[in-house]
Amino acid sequence: MTQMDGFVDALKAIVGAANVITDAQQMETYMNEERGLFHGTARAVVRPGSTEEVSAVVKACGAAGVSVVPQGGNTGLVGGAVADAGAVILALARMNKIVAIDPDGFTMTVQSGCVLQDIREAADKAGCLFPLSLGAQGSCQIGGNLATNVGGINTLRYGTARDNVLGLEVVLPDGRIWNGLRALTKDNTGYSLRNLFVGSEGTLGIITGAVLKLYPKALAVETAFCALPDLDAALPLLDRARRMSGDSVSAFELICRDGVRLSTTYLKGLSDPLDAPHPWYALIDFSSTSPSVPLRQTFEAFLESAFEDGIIVDAVIAESVEQNRNLWRIREELPEAQKYEGGSIKHDVSVPVRAVPEFIRRASEAVVKAVPGCRPVPFGHMGDGNIHFNVSQPEGANSDEYLAHWHQMSAAVYDVVHDLGGSFSAEHGVGRLKVDYLARYRSEVELDLLKRIKAAVDPANLMNPGVFFPR
Ligand SMILES: Cc1cc2nc3c(=O)[nH]c(=O)nc-3n(C[C@H](O)[C@H](O)[C@H](O)COP(=O)(O)OP(=O)(O)OC[C@H]3O[C@@H](n4cnc5c(N)ncnc54)[C@H](O)[C@@H]3O)c2cc1C
Repeated sequence: MTQMDGFVDALKAIVGAANVITDAQQMETYMNEERGLFHGTARAVVRPGSTEEVSAVVKACGAAGVSVVPQGGNTGLVGGAVADAGAVILALARMNKIVAIDPDGFTMTVQSGCVLQDIREAADKAGCLFPLSLGAQGSCQIGGNLATNVGGINTLRYGTARDNVLGLEVVLPDGRIWNGLRALTKDNTGYSLRNLFVGSEGTLGIITGAVLKLYPKALAVETAFCALPDLDAALPLLDRARRMSGDSVSAFELICRDGVRLSTTYLKGLSDPLDAPHPWYALIDFSSTSPSVPLRQTFEAFLESAFEDGIIVDAVIAESVEQNRNLWRIREELPEAQKYEGGSIKHDVSVPVRAVPEFIRRASEAVVKAVPGCRPVPFGHMGDGNIHFNVSQPEGANSDEYLAHWHQMSAAVYDVVHDLGGSFSAEHGVGRLKVDYLARYRSEVELDLLKRIKAAVDPANLMNPGVFFPR
């Protein structure tokens, strides 16, 4: 019997033989990363069913000097859940219980392997809203959402994952369990450990449970697809929407013309919602939790005033659930539509909201200079200053040759972002994909603090090594 057989047997003794996968073919789905940019090489995939089992697995890995890569729904976009150098993948899907819902106290306690969509549906059934919402919600897990501090379409109103969690349970790198499952909004007792683990991308421990924050359910939502005369109209339009709605804008998405063209050309069942093409569009949601607020009236008054002042030139209001769905599909499925015109180099960046138009102009110039003929397709969460700056290949170009420019183009975009005081990763994190950029764009002081925190919590560097810093 080899040492490795002994290690695998120890894992089987903890979680049961059926929950330890070592067969290469069966492990394959856990090895592939969403965009196909990485491929993993794990020793085993382990599927624990409880916090105690996670703790025992982490202790066994520590004793054998084997690194651990936590994996949720594996929808991350920066290679954070990819195992390398023979690590163990700790897949949390079996830990999918909604432990308790308190609709009067507006909290929900969950295990970390719960799928986001299931959490949203459970909250809805209890007459509440859990506001995190994103394209991957049918498969991403709350543990992954917290580990990446996910954003999504409602951040403008409800904040990121960090703003929607009250307490956490975490298995530490030495296997101890930190029970911080406190349902407290106010808790000023030293450093915020909860905030340390949110956004830590599996590098400090395994999130096994969370107390989430709920909200009253929206009783009315109004959606409009608006045409803007130019990019500079976006900021005054956002400003007006927030002020005239009593700050009840729940989404404000900016989309360039080429984005709308791509979605309405290639996606089944979609057509241009407006009669003529326009250079820029905003997809806007107002929502209200009050039965007595005349939301439609407020929404129409806002659109009329924006129209009178020339900051929108045309608009359509969704009149049915289906129309609403189709307007949102134009935005949400845009990356899918982009694939029909070849390769796309993607950037998920943020700048101060005021700087969004300047960023788009300067970054567009920079990428065209780097790869003449490339086609910027910027869109995203204007209200959060978060733009998905995707750049399509030049028409007729070879996709592989174009994608070979990824790093050169990204450096050009991130330099503009940095110059404007922004972040090279607004939503998706650093993972393994953006390690070099962390080193390049964060100050020595900041990097030193990040490294010291990592070394203090995980001195043996067994938790997801290779994420944030080179191995
Ligand atoms: C179609 C699509 C749309 C998306 N839209 C958005 C969006 O709008 N906004 C956004 O921010 N992101 C978005 N993403 C990215 C992705 O969905 C999020 O990062 C999501 O939070 C990842 O969750 P997951 O469960 O899939 O985590 P995984 O991909 O499995 O893991 C992501 C990271 O978290 C760590 N991790 C996972 N579970 C745990 C745990 N329990 N404890 C500790 N660490 C853990 C992993 O090690 C890894 O580093 C999108 C992705 C897709 C495919």
